[in-house]
Amino acid sequence: MRLSDDPCAQCEEVLQPFLDRELTVDEQAAAERHLDACDYCRRRYRFEVQLRRFVRQSALEPMAPELKQRLAALRTPL
Ligand SMILES: [Zn+2]
Repeated sequence: MRLSDDPCAQCEEVLQPFLDRELTVDEQAAAERHLDACDYCRRRYRFEVQLRRFVRQSALEPMAPELKQRLAALRTPL
């Protein structure tokens, strides 16, 4: 993966802790502002939220091949 092709390589780093609620209040606010302004990250964020919901739902089942594919796709967006 070529990072230069990623329009938001930096906010990518913020997205995971944001989803995990590991940010300070200030960092959280900054992340929310960015999500408001950035279409790309908003789409990624929605996808991540859905993915996590999906993962929680299927936590008691063995990992499905489709889920593995989704996770792999997540690592190489676009
Ligand atoms: Zn962004």
